[in-house]
Amino acid sequence: MDFSLSEEQQQIRKAVREFAQREIAPHVMEYDQQERFPIELVKEAAKHGYMGGVVPPEYGGAGLDYLTYTLIIEEISRVCQIIGCALSFPSGLAGSAILRYGTEEQKRKYLRPLARGEAFAATGVPEPGSGTDVAAMRTTARRDGNEYVLNGSKAWISFLDVADWVLTFATLDRRLKHKGICAFIIERDTPGMTFHPYKNKLGFRPLCTGDIVFQDCRVPAKNRIGAEGEGFKVAMCAVENGRLGVAARAVGMAQACLDEAVKYARERVVFDQPIGRFQLIQSMITDMVTGIESARFLTYRLAWLKDQGVERARREASIAKMVATDVALMAATHAVQIFGAYGCSPEYPVSRYYRDAKVFQIIEGTNQLHRALIAEYTLGFRQ
Ligand SMILES: Cc1cc2nc3c(=O)[nH]c(=O)nc-3n(C[C@H](O)[C@H](O)[C@H](O)COP(=O)(O)OP(=O)(O)OC[C@H]3O[C@@H](n4cnc5c(N)ncnc54)[C@H](O)[C@@H]3O)c2cc1C
Repeated sequence: MDFSLSEEQQQIRKAVREFAQREIAPHVMEYDQQERFPIELVKEAAKHGYMGGVVPPEYGGAGLDYLTYTLIIEEISRVCQIIGCALSFPSGLAGSAILRYGTEEQKRKYLRPLARGEAFAATGVPEPGSGTDVAAMRTTARRDGNEYVLNGSKAWISFLDVADWVLTFATLDRRLKHKGICAFIIERDTPGMTFHPYKNKLGFRPLCTGDIVFQDCRVPAKNRIGAEGEGFKVAMCAVENGRLGVAARAVGMAQACLDEAVKYARERVVFDQPIGRFQLIQSMITDMVTGIESARFLTYRLAWLKDQGVERARREASIAKMVATDVALMAATHAVQIFGAYGCSPEYPVSRYYRDAKVFQIIEGTNQLHRALIAEYTLGFRQ
């Protein structure tokens, strides 16, 4: 394994860092407080090619290797992990499954504008009654000629305000469990599909997250992704690739916690000395440094494996996602503690990091799920 960055990767990382500081940093607090998705900043980032990720150029992407893509998402997330999330979607939760299972027409029609930042997408897996247990979904799909008719609902789905289409899942027959699931792309404004956003959620506030309800929603059969019954595989492909993006975002945000904590610990004077001189503060800084470096290397290892062409890196994806998001919450908790009362103020970003870090442990598979999966791989109960 060689994680030394090429000259080009170092230049890209520097350019992204400068872009994020110049274009995004001045506005983050405002759009977080307003719970507004900063679409103009995402489009600006897309113009720089930061949304194209690993998607091949013929489908509108930047054709990057996974490590360079990871560096971009990490650097953007060091300033705003919500924009990091949007930029990761073409290579991750929304686009990767289309790249792997979509037809040529689907890739050109849906993936290309997404990778260019000309369109946005949502991906909807969980339902009000089933999250972790994906195969227990109740949304049904019934074939009717050249269409499918969908009924049911999805819960906790993001990008509802800007999504031009939704990648979602429904079952042909619940008794078939995961073998009965189909994946579909449903265009916004399709009759029978309605969005119901939540307000005031704990974290990820600029994302418009909510329910999607399907009532006799007719979807053209040509919008099915993959074969009938292949939807579970499509979903797993989406979440596995999504996990690299989440890990990169968590590492970026954890680094931001450390950056803020170090600055504050050098400036804040208590008992006539900077608080950074107290060993208990130093202990928290050390936890953050060692945690972040471990998480970063596990995340880069996952990217590196993908760059080596390893088709299935689910175990490593679980390890990277779980460790990076646990480290992000630890780093955010320590950052708030180091700031004392000011850590609870909207004047400093650490309170936002703390709220967002908790959500990281829940999305793209809860960390309990990953803990269970890692043990099962180790015990030989799962390949
Ligand atoms: C802000 C936000 C945005 C989101 N955006 C999206 C999105 O855009 N697209 C999308 O598809 N999803 C999205 N999600 C949903 C997220 O992926 C799910 O919440 C997640 O998969 C967990 O499902 P659940 O909430 O139903 O938890 P449940 O499955 O009900 O789990 C409840 C608890 O039981 C535990 N548990 C479950 N199974 C096991 C097990 N086998 N072993 C041990 N413990 C277990 C869990 O860890 C958890 O603690 C979002 C969630 C949030 C909070």
